[in-house]
Amino acid sequence: MNQLSNRIQSIPESATLAMAAKAREMKEKGIEVISLSLGEPDFKTPKHIQEAAKQAIDSEEFFAYPPVNGYLDLRKAISEKFEKDNGLKYDPNQIVVSNGAKQSIANVFMALLNPGDEVIVLTPYWVSYSAMILLAEGTPVFVKGTIENDFKATPDQIREALTDRTKAIIFSSPCNPTGSVFSKSELEAIAEVVRPREDITIISDEIYELINFGEKHESIGTLDDMLERTVTVNGFSKGYAMTGWRVGYIGAPLWIAKAANKMQGQYTSGNSSIAQRAALSALQGSVEPSKEMAKAYEDRRALVYDLLKSIPGFEVNMPQGAFYFFPNVKHYIGKSYGTVKINSVNDLCLFLLEDAQVSLVTGEAFGDPECLRLSYAASEESLKKAIASMKESLAKLS
Ligand code: PMP
Ligand code: GLU
Repeated sequence: MNQLSNRIQSIPESATLAMAAKAREMKEKGIEVISLSLGEPDFKTPKHIQEAAKQAIDSEEFFAYPPVNGYLDLRKAISEKFEKDNGLKYDPNQIVVSNGAKQSIANVFMALLNPGDEVIVLTPYWVSYSAMILLAEGTPVFVKGTIENDFKATPDQIREALTDRTKAIIFSSPCNPTGSVFSKSELEAIAEVVRPREDITIISDEIYELINFGEKHESIGTLDDMLERTVTVNGFSKGYAMTGWRVGYIGAPLWIAKAANKMQGQYTSGNSSIAQRAALSALQGSVEPSKEMAKAYEDRRALVYDLLKSIPGFEVNMPQGAFYFFPNVKHYIGKSYGTVKINSVNDLCLFLLEDAQVSLVTGEAFGDPECLRLSYAASEESLKKAIASMKESLAKLS
């Protein structure tokens, strides 16, 4: 008998993690799969960060429960980082360190939403936003940008989506899955729409801040009247190649920071002590390793752009940050090969997994069923091989 709650049944499995699991299963069976599905840096955590974690273990100082919202010295370092790098003034008591930015965002939705409250989600969006809103019994309202507009929803679209129930708006910049980056003037245009509505919280997910190939990274919280209603999300997974360490954080208005603290006080008791010491050393140490990684992603971006452009029927835009391409591939919907019929981009991704042995993620998981996401956080050799193989498989479809 199915005794599961409506809550858990209302959400799908994480498509990024599900596709990664499928690729892993095939690999275990001895099938060589190139995995371009998961947004996971292929670099190792910089050595000085690893060393800090080892020292923390050896010191025998960091074995007990840490403060729920994170060690004070780490929160101070985050507060200084926000001020120095982003021009955002969040005191250490406005910082909450969590098990990855994923938990940071989940805390905020759980803290803010009552059943039926609406959250405007700039679409395409990172896969977990909608599920997290549903788990918090809110209603996601998708406001969609198109490839012609670099996937950026317009301020008019946002204005039209506002209702009395709108409680928050969320977006990522640089964006997962599109790689788009909002400029200061584009952020100002969003701020202008939201400014009269003091009851709306902006959740600005800046986890790809350090992987930005264009203009300087801008935070919406720096704009007039925005800081007191903006939650700025960041973390160590992407910029420092620390996905497995699970450290993310928010800077938030105090009332939200206190609620997020209360939330994780009941759910997790905060983040691993050792991972926090590692995170502190990431902030205190040299940013050179992060810059080198970003440079490598930029080189791969150029390579992958040319390769994807050479695939018939792939409409590709040039991402400005993060490490994803999000081509529109609707050209292939309706095509077939033998008994395989491509009725959707989901079908196309499954076909490419089986035929080209490349794992990708369907755009549907990110709110655009005409696109697919390719992560180029992989070696140049793997990328070349994967895209050649995709091209060959796609040529079979007619
Ligand atoms: N936000 C975005 C846009 C992401 O792509 C991810 C995936 N890493 C996260 C948040 C969560 O990151 P983590 O939990 O690894 O810090
Ligand atoms: N954020 C990464 C992605 O989009 C990692 C997977 C996840 O956290 O869902 O692929």
